[in-house]
Amino acid sequence: MLLHRQADKTTRVCEEWRSSRQTVGFVPTMGCLHDGHMSLIKEAREKCDRVVVSIFVNPLQFGKNEDFGTYPRPFARDVEKCKEVGVDLIFHPDASEFYGANFKTRVDSGPIGKLYCGKSRPGFFDGVLTVVTILLNIVRPNRAFFGEKDFQQLYMVKQLVQDFRLGTEIMGMPIFREPSGLAMSSRNEYLNPHQREVAVCLSEAIKLAQREFKNGDLKALSLKNKVEKYLSVIPEIKLDYAHVVDERTLASLHSEINRPARLLLATYIGDAPRVRLIDNARIS
Ligand code: AMP
Repeated sequence: MLLHRQADKTTRVCEEWRSSRQTVGFVPTMGCLHDGHMSLIKEAREKCDRVVVSIFVNPLQFGKNEDFGTYPRPFARDVEKCKEVGVDLIFHPDASEFYGANFKTRVDSGPIGKLYCGKSRPGFFDGVLTVVTILLNIVRPNRAFFGEKDFQQLYMVKQLVQDFRLGTEIMGMPIFREPSGLAMSSRNEYLNPHQREVAVCLSEAIKLAQREFKNGDLKALSLKNKVEKYLSVIPEIKLDYAHVVDERTLASLHSEINRPARLLLATYIGDAPRVRLIDNARIS
């Protein structure tokens, strides 16, 4: 397995692979790899001749008071995990080299970048789309694998690749969950055992909405209200947002659901540190 910190070396290796007719699959991550990441990497391993994983905690996508400094970085463990599943190349850039002193340009994530997670985290999606654009330009993969865990991000990356004609096929992968239902996340590392139990309420809230829909409550607003009510009585949880959205446009729905719809959820748990957890699922 190769390990490169420099972009030009990574580009050169990937170019060699593509010019010898080997397909390149790419999984961008911020590290602290868990089974959710591994499911993306394994899919890339199955679908492509070569697999590249990037491990880079992207400073551009963190707000001033967010957890950039404390984000877990168990790099040696990540390397071992990548070796075990046959990753060909880890790209692990240094932030100061990745964004040189003269770096100025940002991708504007547009109107959807200001909704939902973008509303609570101003600039977040500009930061995400900027790093994804650069990474895709460095690796130039045939396919890149993203998780539905970050559904709005996946949606916006697909839009980016279409708008900027980046030429990579974006593969969306299902959410990998703990047996309890908790969606796997690097930020789960921040949770104490009690909070881990409490955090199951996100997937329970989704199940509640799915059940209510199945039992005939087809109104998006009513489902949203039921989810909000369910979460409001859990003392450790502070809801950021719950929205039922049209999967194809990401527009928030209020009336009767007559198209593929998804519940998007974001909550905070605990005080110090205050941990932000997100989850989502199709409900119709
Ligand atoms: P991150 O390291 O959090 O930036 O995530 C890297 C990629 O892994 C993103 O495409 C995420 O959507 C995806 N991912 C994170 N958690 C999960 C999960 N539980 N199931 C599936 N994919 C995930």
